[in-house]
Amino acid sequence: MASTLAFHHRSLFTLILIIMMIMISSLDFVSSHDHLIIFAANSAQTDHDHDDHKPSTSSSSSSSSLPFGFLKHLEGSKKGDKVQGIDDLKKYLQHFGYLNSNPTQTQQVTHSPTDDDNKNNFDDPLETAIKTYQANYNLEPTGTLNSQTLSKMMMPRCAVADIINNETRMRSGKKTSTATASPKHHGHRKLLGREFNHVSHYSFFSGEPRWPSSKYSLTYSFAAGTPSEAMDAVARAFQTWASNTQFRFSRAQGNTKADIRVSFERRDHGDGDPFDGAGGVLAHAFSPTDGRLHLDADESWAIGEVTDAFDVETVALHEIGHLLGLLHSSVEGAIMYPSIGAGLTKGLNGDDIQGIRDLYNVAV
Ligand SMILES: [Zn+2]
Ligand SMILES: [Zn+2]
Repeated sequence: MASTLAFHHRSLFTLILIIMMIMISSLDFVSSHDHLIIFAANSAQTDHDHDDHKPSTSSSSSSSSLPFGFLKHLEGSKKGDKVQGIDDLKKYLQHFGYLNSNPTQTQQVTHSPTDDDNKNNFDDPLETAIKTYQANYNLEPTGTLNSQTLSKMMMPRCAVADIINNETRMRSGKKTSTATASPKHHGHRKLLGREFNHVSHYSFFSGEPRWPSSKYSLTYSFAAGTPSEAMDAVARAFQTWASNTQFRFSRAQGNTKADIRVSFERRDHGDGDPFDGAGGVLAHAFSPTDGRLHLDADESWAIGEVTDAFDVETVALHEIGHLLGLLHSSVEGAIMYPSIGAGLTKGLNGDDIQGIRDLYNVAV
């Protein structure tokens, strides 16, 4: 009897051991596959657009169904052409600040029936806008929609404009001291008494808004329901900026309103700059001292380099740059470069750190 019991105990013990081993190995499985955070369509906490039920997982079918996919068939377009879809390109360039959304029509006081015809015309303002875009993205400013230009334009990117109020200090803006638009001309920034020998391409928001020195310690908070992996990733991004600047960040305690509020949002979420579903724009953040940082909940988000997904920490690092006052940079290695490919991670670059030092005139 005793030996039977002992046997039972032993087999029970073995059974428990086996179950524990299975649990441990499945935990292991979860932790190694759990970098991929996929948001279900109804997971956004402040979803104002209930008409959109498209799940984020079924999105990456063909490039033409993605937000910037309309650009593809415009390849080779140039001034004088009239192509269906040019009006969408104009809207794209308006959104990112390259083209005025309300072109001054001094000669046209009344609405002309030809307006609708003209919208697909590849006209002079469009050519100029494309040249500026090309200069900012280190491309030859041909003014034509060549494949290099299109592939840059179709990259997933930040929703914040490259140019605000027609002012840019990205690459195309460095031409101000010469009459020509030569992209080879760059001004060296004089910074804290030192002349940097390499070319910097960071830029600031119009009017150079910044946090007052009394606000170098900032608090942040997350919207309710934000996945903990995403919160950890954003916290690491804050830490990276803190290590390289005079700023310090801490998670807001209790119900106090944090200086910076991070949330996942989708489509129209009430701030005048709607997200666009999977692909296209990934996130945006506001200039100092607004503090809002929004990530597009319709993207596939990941922790680290995961195929076809965007790294939360990398995108947060970029958006925190906006919160601190940086606009976009033409330096491809800079975190403030406007676009990022899926499956990639990126850190801070000298250009980003110089940008903050220049804006705040603070040595760190
Ligand atoms: Zn941006
Ligand atoms: Zn927003």
